[in-house]
Amino acid sequence: MVKVRFAPSPTGYLHLGGARTAIFNWLFARHNKGRFILRIEDTDRSRSTEDSIQEILEALVWLGLNWDEGPYRQTERMEIYKKEAQRLLEEKKAYYCYCTPQELEERRKKALEGGRMPQYDGRCRGKTGAREGINPVIRLKVDQEGETVIHDLIKGEVVYPNSQLDDFILVRSDGTPTYNFVVVVDDALMGITHVIRGDDHLNNTPKQIQLYRALGYEPPQFAHVPMILGPDRARLSKRHGATSVLAYREEGYLPEALFNFLVRLGWSHGDQEIFSKEELIRYFSLENVGKSPAVYNPDKLLWLNAHYIKTGETERLAKLLVPFLAREGLIREGAETDMGWLCRVVDTLKERSKTLKEMAQMAAFYFREPREYDPKGDRKFLKPQVLPYLEALVQELEKLDDFSEEEIERTFNRVLERFGIKLKHLAQPCRVALTGKTVSPGIFEIVSVMGKEAAISRLDKAIKHIKAKPEA
Ligand code: GLU
Repeated sequence: MVKVRFAPSPTGYLHLGGARTAIFNWLFARHNKGRFILRIEDTDRSRSTEDSIQEILEALVWLGLNWDEGPYRQTERMEIYKKEAQRLLEEKKAYYCYCTPQELEERRKKALEGGRMPQYDGRCRGKTGAREGINPVIRLKVDQEGETVIHDLIKGEVVYPNSQLDDFILVRSDGTPTYNFVVVVDDALMGITHVIRGDDHLNNTPKQIQLYRALGYEPPQFAHVPMILGPDRARLSKRHGATSVLAYREEGYLPEALFNFLVRLGWSHGDQEIFSKEELIRYFSLENVGKSPAVYNPDKLLWLNAHYIKTGETERLAKLLVPFLAREGLIREGAETDMGWLCRVVDTLKERSKTLKEMAQMAAFYFREPREYDPKGDRKFLKPQVLPYLEALVQELEKLDDFSEEEIERTFNRVLERFGIKLKHLAQPCRVALTGKTVSPGIFEIVSVMGKEAAISRLDKAIKHIKAKPEA
């Protein structure tokens, strides 16, 4: 059975690269009806924080990446690592090294001066007996003969000469185990069949393979995913905009849009761009992960988000919109919102919003009357000539009990007929009067959703505003 894991180090938020690694693992597990394990790699206590763990979990849940086991925490598994280190010592596959950091540094310098690769020279190998006052590290006896071949499921065959490896440290002098050690112990004991991770770890893989052998475990299969580049082809970083997954939530992106976007950063299925989760689970395979780095394109993410908003379920969008409305100051946080009405608002805006944040901003006119009229719109459309049209419209609207879109359309048509004018001669002044702007959703729908009271009071206000103009 396929078993994969996502193993974040909680030293910061979950960034796009990490999220994509998690998604690939999750899809691989779901496609193969296997298991997806979450493991928090928190042995570096000085850099790991509880906040970061919570943030990572929240981001994974938001993306819909449910795990079947865990979250395990490596700091809760220290006894296991200790035992495994002990076993390696007893089997003489590892040894205590008493070289001091100063000594190592001196030798390193000498090696560099002599044009040699700085490596641990193995001088404590085979030695017994402690050195007074020194806490030793534990090193693995590395086989420096021959080469290590990685049959990477993405990169293909990668060959490392073992002479490049040295007896690397498994346990530091303070007793804490190193990344390379714990990752192998955990992957082996947790029965991980496929290690899918960023290719920044490729150089660790030959070391880890030696460690599997020393521990007597079968190495898993490896798949190293190329990194994500920014539009300028430099490694994706904060310079290119938000890299934290939850920052995208704050900006009004839908999780399915970010999910879809991230999968396509490196994986493809023909030239299809939009995928449902079910399709992704059905189609996902490591063979279709590209060998070269993917380039992050924020416009594409925006395009995908617009698609998922346009096709999203109105009720869900309305719920998701509430905090954005609060942030825009349009509703009070925690106050009750008429969700039925909000759904109508969303229906008028979902075709034209790229993010929920933008949708909230565009919804502002439903919640408060325009503070000012767009100056161009004011000049062009709120002219004395339109006064009779607007006054007639107010009179007609006042008579309505049914404020449905259809009824409003009929009402507009009556006014148009009466004056022999086209819709735009009434709709544009009306739009500026009601929204302050020259663009908005369809005029009948906004009048209907806004409701009788707001519509009439805003039209009255615009009428007064026109009458106060010097040319009137
Ligand atoms: N904890 C490592 C990281 O966050 C992942 C190691 C791995 O996947 O093997 O980069």
